Amino acid sequence: MNAAALLDRLEKVRQTGPGRWVACCPAHDDRSPSLSIRETEDGTILIHDFAGCDAQSILAALGLSLGDLFPDRLKHHAKSIRRRVPLCDLVALLDHESLIVALIGIDMLANKTIDADDWNRLVTAVRRIGEMRDHVHP
Ligand SMILES: [Zn+2]
Repeated sequence: MNAAALLDRLEKVRQTGPGRWVACCPAHDDRSPSLSIRETEDGTILIHDFAGCDAQSILAALGLSLGDLFPDRLKHHAKSIRRRVPLCDLVALLDHESLIVALIGIDMLANKTIDADDWNRLVTAVRRIGEMRDHVHP
């Protein structure tokens, strides 16, 4: 599946940059878009709900599964992905986590209130970026 097919199923979609969008989260009563959608160069779709819904609940609300976030050609490589995490996937994850850090940072600079969930998500992002380092074996 590609990002356009996912965006078709979402409400109040707004493009925020190349390959980046925000939309209302289908998994909770979302009036102002809190779902971030990002399409990576290899066609993988990354989603994150700033209200805290996990990817599986969001996809379930749309009648989709996690596999739908990957382009069809990547599904054939599912076995090799399980064996070890390819560098390109780590970079995609790193990009996603750094986007979260950036978005929270932008809110902080704009003097918006950062609640406990935002802080927790920020801490999680920093921890995940640290864990990614352990997956890279030069
Ligand atoms: Zn949500």
